[in-house]
Amino acid sequence: MATKREPGRDRVLLLVEDNLHNRQIFARVLTHFGFVVCEATNGAEALEVAREKKPDLILMDLSLPVMDGWEATRRIKDDPQLSSIPIVALTAHAMADDERRAAEAGCDHYLAKPISPKKVVAEVARILGDLEEPE
Ligand code: MN
Repeated sequence: MATKREPGRDRVLLLVEDNLHNRQIFARVLTHFGFVVCEATNGAEALEVAREKKPDLILMDLSLPVMDGWEATRRIKDDPQLSSIPIVALTAHAMADDERRAAEAGCDHYLAKPISPKKVVAEVARILGDLEEPE
């Protein structure tokens, strides 16, 4: 059995979310669990911060000003320096084809809002392989 570690230890996350309230809640809980959280409020900023910080994982809201999350995801996945970073789409969209569109843009995982911050922590830890439970 793999050693269970504190979920966030040594992990840098990029949290892309334009809603201040959501961003603060998720950042607070992720930080509490030991993640180092970088924030971006739109897709263009997400690209900049991703290039600067090379995060271990990106939580990407899809409806964003300036550049939406689909376009930001496409550009990150087109960049050889960034393409291996897992991107988790985090969206309130209720559209039936939303998950498919996120996958087509290059998102590796998909979480539908509303979702509790603790559930996000559990999913991020699972994706990063920090929990012992098998897939
Ligand atoms: Mn949004």
